[in-house]
Amino acid sequence: MHQNRLFNRTRLQLAAWYAGVMGAILGVCGVAVYLHLAETHFEAIAGEIQTLVGSLHDSIEPMLEKPGELHPRVRQILPGLCVGGQLCRPVKTSHIHVLGADYQDPYYVRFTNLSFQTLATVNTPPPADSAAQGKNWQILTDEKGRRYHQFSMVLTTSAGQPWGYIQVGRSLSGYQRYLASLKVFLLIGLPIAMVSIGGASWWLAGLAMQPVYNSYRQIQQFTADAAHELRTPLAAIQATVETTLGTENLNLIEAQTTLQTITRQNQRLAQIVQDLLMLSRMDLKVLPTKHQNCCLDDLLHDLVEEFAAFAISAKVSLELSIQAQDLYVVGDEEQLYRLVMNLITNAIQYSYPGGTVMLRLLKEDSTAIIQVEDTGVGIETAEQTRIFDRFYRVNQDRSRQTGGAGLGLAIAQAIVELHKGSLKVQSQFGKGSIFTLRLPLKT
Ligand code: ADP
Repeated sequence: MHQNRLFNRTRLQLAAWYAGVMGAILGVCGVAVYLHLAETHFEAIAGEIQTLVGSLHDSIEPMLEKPGELHPRVRQILPGLCVGGQLCRPVKTSHIHVLGADYQDPYYVRFTNLSFQTLATVNTPPPADSAAQGKNWQILTDEKGRRYHQFSMVLTTSAGQPWGYIQVGRSLSGYQRYLASLKVFLLIGLPIAMVSIGGASWWLAGLAMQPVYNSYRQIQQFTADAAHELRTPLAAIQATVETTLGTENLNLIEAQTTLQTITRQNQRLAQIVQDLLMLSRMDLKVLPTKHQNCCLDDLLHDLVEEFAAFAISAKVSLELSIQAQDLYVVGDEEQLYRLVMNLITNAIQYSYPGGTVMLRLLKEDSTAIIQVEDTGVGIETAEQTRIFDRFYRVNQDRSRQTGGAGLGLAIAQAIVELHKGSLKVQSQFGKGSIFTLRLPLKT
């Protein structure tokens, strides 16, 4: 696959598309995960603030008597409380035991009157945002640019009069650090994932291209073999014609010999073309296939009769053994004839003089079995699967006398498939072969 630039380019394009699409999906998923985590984290912070405000509100409200005045007992609940703008040490928020919870992030508490003027604070709150004073939730920024999330709640006196507001805020620096680490993770993780996706895409594109490449190679091989097969008779015709043209005073016998050679080669050409046409029609499923009741006993008797002379000339004994009578299959009689004929032709052609070709007809359940057994040259195990390939011949010397173009078994196999049967070979090199054909019997 590496030698072919077209396929490598296509593989690269496929891998690039695949990686691009996967990268885009991963990118969108990464952004979605980031936004989701940011939102849930932010909501968790808001929930914490709200819980703290609620608890402080419930604990402090019963102590409030006059609007704008804080009872000294509030200090017991909030130890670092600074009243009236006095300077106080910041207090660790984990010391605020209202909730019995530890708050690691710096919280602040601010009490304001109804006009939002600060009355008391715990820790140093950021400056209030006058534009958003009435809102429950606010994001505030201090002079150093640190951001805080703040929640405000109305406080009422024990007599039910509005007292002022309690505002609790929490620094968002932990949250921002969390988002920053999430971004770093995604920014490093995504390119690493992209590189892995790129590698995987290249590998997957290779896997996807392999069958295409294999069939492309098969077509290339087929074209080369077909050209080779057609060239042999053409070259023979050309050579014969040239020799004849160079002969002075050509007599009638020589002219007849020339024409006979040309006719023979022409027949060979016509046979190859016809076989190729038949195969391609069977591939395209456009070859008309009849559905006749075919009697296999008759078919085999006819074939044995027709091949008797050929067997005698090859000094091979052709025998028939019908072990089950009246076996009928539904199919195209002409094609079935061609199928068994190819097997018999091979069996005789690849047998040694003095050998035997045995033709058997058997029945097994609802299947008819035709066996063509010979005592010929045999086929090596490694070759046994390849002999059904188009133009494949065990002996690749195409100038030899025996055998055809290597299409006989390919045609036989195609006919078998059209008739929903099977064709298997068992062979021992140097001893002989058995071709077993199974066809479903007529029901
Ligand atoms: P060909 O026209 O060359 O016979 P086939 O497709 O019929 O082509 O057969 C393919 C190859 O399988 C042959 O070239 C031959 O080498 C081998 N073969 C087929 N039948 C036999 C057999 N009965 N005995 C030995 N070899 C066989």
